[in-house]
This record gives sequence, C-alpha cells and structure tokens, in this order.
Amino acid sequence: MENKHQAMQETATPPENEGTIRTLNFLEEIIEADLTAGKYKSILTRFPPEPNGYLHVGHAKSICLNFGLAKKYGGKTNLRFDDTNPAKEETEYVDAIKEDVRWLGFEWANEFYASDYFEQLYEWACMLIKKGLAYVDDQAQEEIRRTRGTVTQPGINSPYRNRSVEENLDLFTRMRAGEFADGTKVLRAKIDMAHPNMLMRDPLMYRIIHTGHHRTGDRWCIYPMYDYAHGESDSIEHITHSICTLEFDVHRPLYDWFIENLEIFPSRQYEFARLNLTYTVMSKRKLLELVKNRYVAGWDDPRMPTICGMRRRGYTPESIRLFAEKVGVAKRDNVIDLSLLEWCVREDLNRRANRYMAVLDPLKVVITNYPEGQTEEMEAVNNPEDETAGKRLVPFSREIYIEREDFMENPPKKYFRLSPGNEVRLRYAYIIKCEEVVKDTAGNITELRCTYDLDTRSGSGSSRQVKGTIHWVSAAHAGRTEVRLFDRLFTEARMDSLPEDRDYKDFINAGSLRIITAFTEPALKGLPHLAHVQFERLGYFTVDTDATPDRPVFNRTVTLKDTWAKVAGK
Ligand code: ATP
Ligand code: MG
Repeated sequence: MENKHQAMQETATPPENEGTIRTLNFLEEIIEADLTAGKYKSILTRFPPEPNGYLHVGHAKSICLNFGLAKKYGGKTNLRFDDTNPAKEETEYVDAIKEDVRWLGFEWANEFYASDYFEQLYEWACMLIKKGLAYVDDQAQEEIRRTRGTVTQPGINSPYRNRSVEENLDLFTRMRAGEFADGTKVLRAKIDMAHPNMLMRDPLMYRIIHTGHHRTGDRWCIYPMYDYAHGESDSIEHITHSICTLEFDVHRPLYDWFIENLEIFPSRQYEFARLNLTYTVMSKRKLLELVKNRYVAGWDDPRMPTICGMRRRGYTPESIRLFAEKVGVAKRDNVIDLSLLEWCVREDLNRRANRYMAVLDPLKVVITNYPEGQTEEMEAVNNPEDETAGKRLVPFSREIYIEREDFMENPPKKYFRLSPGNEVRLRYAYIIKCEEVVKDTAGNITELRCTYDLDTRSGSGSSRQVKGTIHWVSAAHAGRTEVRLFDRLFTEARMDSLPEDRDYKDFINAGSLRIITAFTEPALKGLPHLAHVQFERLGYFTVDTDATPDRPVFNRTVTLKDTWAKVAGK
C-alpha cells in the first residue's frame, strides 16, 4: 500500500496541468455527441439533494460531476431540493446544503424546489388520468406489494384498475382535498402488471400524508413519489442531462414513460457508479443515526464523511475536487480506498500549509552547557513549497521538549535519532549529544541531559553533519494546545457489503478519537478557525471551531504518511 502511494505521488498529474492527454469519460462523450449533433444549444444539469440530512463526500462527487460537466461545456447547473417527503425534511438541512455546495466552489444558476412544482405535477397527474393512464387504488400498501408479483411471476391487476376516468378524477380531487386518511388510497400509473421490469407494474404516483411540509405547510396532503416527481421536475426545468447513480438504471424506463405520455420536454437520465469509500458509511439515514445516538459529536464531527465534518477536519474544497477527479466516472460499482482521499488532502495542504514545530508526546531535554536564561531566535522557513510564505523566528533555550519517540535508550542499528552517547540535529538549531538519561524510581525516563555544539548553529555555514534531524519546542516559550487525533470511524474496510446479519454499528472504532495536550512553538497561537498548518514530521493539522484565543484546539487532518497500511498489515 505504501508503495502504491509513493507511485501515485510520482505519477499524479496536478489538475491544472493542461499538457496531459486526457480521454473523455462516458458522460463527456454523450454530451459532446449531443452538442455536435445540435440536440441542445447548451447543456443544463442539476444537483437534486433531498433535504433530509447533511451532504457527504458521495454527494460531493455528484456535485463536482454535475457542476463540473456544465462548466466544461459552457452550460449551467440548477440546485433543486427534492423535497417531496414532508416527514423527514427540514429547513436546517436546506441551509446547510447550500453552504456546502458554495464552499465546494460551485454556484448554481437557479435554486429550485420540487415542492414548487406540486401544482404542475398535480395537473399532469390529472392529464394521465384523463388519458386512462392513471387510477386511484384503494388497496392497502401491503396488498399492493403482495399483488405486484415476482421477477418470474406477473402481478395481479387491482380490482380498482378499471375505474372510469370520471371516478378517478373525482377520487383524486378528493384525495387532494383531504377527505381520506393516510394509506387509504394511492394514485397509480396504469402500465402493465406483467411487465418484466417490476417498477413498471403500475407504480405509485401519489400517496396521502397528512404532515406539514417545510415549505408548503398544510397546503398539500398528497405527495408525489420520487419516480413521478423527479423526471417531471427535470423536464419542467429543461434539464438536458439528468445524472444519477447506478441503482436508478431500472427506473429509467419509467422516467421515460412519464415524459413520453405527458409529451413534455425530453430530459434524459444517465447513470454512473455511486461513490463508496472503505471504512465509511455514506447513507444519510445511518449518518443521522450516528449523530442521534451520540456515536459522534454532531454532523460536523471531524470523523464524519459529511462535507461539514471534512471541512472541520481540515479538508479543503480543492482537495475534495481533486479527489472527485481522481475517482473519475465509472459505470460499475466500486469501492475507493480512503487513502486516496487522504492522499488528495496531503497533496493540497503540502502547498498551502505553513510548517510549525509541535511536540505531541513530550520528553524534556536539558542542554547542560547552554547558558541559563539565554534565548536565541532561530530562523525557520514557513513553507518550502511557497516562497511567499516567508520566514519566522522560533525561540530556542536551555530546556526543550522533544518527541518521546525520537529517543531510544537501546536503539537498533541504523537508528538515527537520539540515543545515549549519540548526536542528532535539532531542526533550525544545533547538534546535541545525549550525555545522561534521568529516570524516576519506577524506571520511567523523565529527562535527558544533553550538550550542544555551539559551532553547529543552522545557517551558520557549519559543515558538520549528522544523520538525523528532529523537531523540538523551547519549554519556556511553549504553548499548551489541545490536539484531537482521529482514526477511522469504522474498523471494517467493506462497510458497503456487510453480511446480512451484521449491523454497521458493530464496527464502530472505539478508538477513533484521542485527545492529547501538545506543546507548540509560540507562533501557533491565535490562528483563525480552520487555518491549516503542518506540524513538522507529524502531519497536517487544522484549527478546530472549538478553539478560542486562550484555548487553542487543533484537529489532525491527516498524518504525513500513510501509517495505517502498515498497522493493518496490508
Ligand atoms: P443517501 O442514501 O446518502 O441519503 P441519496 O441518494 O438518498 O443518498 P439524495 O439527497 O437523494 O441522497 O442525493 C442527491 C444526489 O446525490 C443524487 O443525485 C444522488 O445520486 C447523489 N449521491 C448520493 N450519494 C452518492 C454517492 N455515494 N455517490 C455519488 N452520488 C451520490
Ligand atoms: Mg434519497
């Protein structure tokens, strides 16, 4: 796995590299053919979230695809809230969705709501009734399901299937007027109960739900089903390419059937493989459950695959867009390795994040030959990837902290960090030598006593070299900082295909959050929320939204290298 990453790092092409030859994905091929044939003057796509939860990285993939295609071909994209189910939808989600789409870097041409089309959809339903293509069914849901047949057996016609147009119109009007209780009647399309595609066996168009809607209030008590509302909404907006995930391919004949029989704008549906990620669940229902049952601190918990969670974790819009591009567009379901996402954020933060020194697991070092009370300012480069990021001064003094991991009392061969009698370079400072190991009565190492070589100050032109360089923080100047270290939220890679008898909650990783107190150089104080930094040698970190000027809090976005692969023994 590590090798794979190294290979990727070498061959990866930055997205702005125009010189590379790129082949078209199948959606681009379709669009180019349509434009060349003059089928459309310009294309119009849509992103159609149901406002029943926060967006996740799967939605981000869909957003990048829909907005990205429109942008590439000079078209536009609508944001349409697919708010046809009053029971689960809330305005809170609408606002969060808009914020997330904008944050990802996209602006929609129009903000629409499927609920704005309720009147039109109702009229069209009446039209289908008049054409003899829809009827009111009094059977209970259970009965309807039972008589639908199986893949090998045709369904049974409803006893209400041959109601007259007049009776159907009358009943449907009264359904709308609120005369009937939930579940007592539905409107069904009259297609074919023996159709090989089960979805074409007189599918439901409307059901009765006496529940207030977040936008239409109590105006409606009948609500259109997804299959009826979705294609018709596309058509109303003149969407040219309606892109959805693969599981909707069996719905396409129905999508087309409604459009043909209503003789309305012929939007076309195309399917691509939904994004699955290892160690991740990605259904809003499950994410909501994690929030409600307090497995995580909220929708924006940095361990969540939600866009707001990833933002708080330290992901940037650029890194998510890069990820969407790398994933590409597939026609077959697949599972993407979470480490690709991590690779993308490293790639972006490497260019963006200033470097600082912080010690997560401190071990005190006293430099015995360094004058007491003296402080030196060591010049440090903020970002080797970005000259404009400038330099800063890091205070150095007699007592410092180093990472406990950077010392070994009995080191193996080729250990180039600190060990008794050995030397190491302190980043931006001097070479020090470990002279003495101080322990408490229990035998734990509490302190190292070292000496430094005055002639080896960084930048002084000293020619003496040692193999290892470690980071450090001056004890007298160090700030104390809460640092939140995250691990995967689930212990199982293939969360998308668990055995039937296992619940996804059985695989929650109990150790996915570890909070520690770190020592940091003073320059790390007072950074704004969501500022991205690199703690040298440790990873990329981002200022959490819980941070205050007096109480800094950092989230570890990602380590510098993929350490998981090793632990998992892959
Ligand atoms: P969920 O099952 O997570 O609730 P959904 O498909 O029901 O997802 P919607 O709000 O209906 O969520 O989806 C809005 C758009 O995002 C749809 O076009 C849908 O196809 C797309 N989408 C949702 N999940 C993914 C995913 N994992 N990969 C790619 N696209 C997705
Ligand atoms: Mg949905």
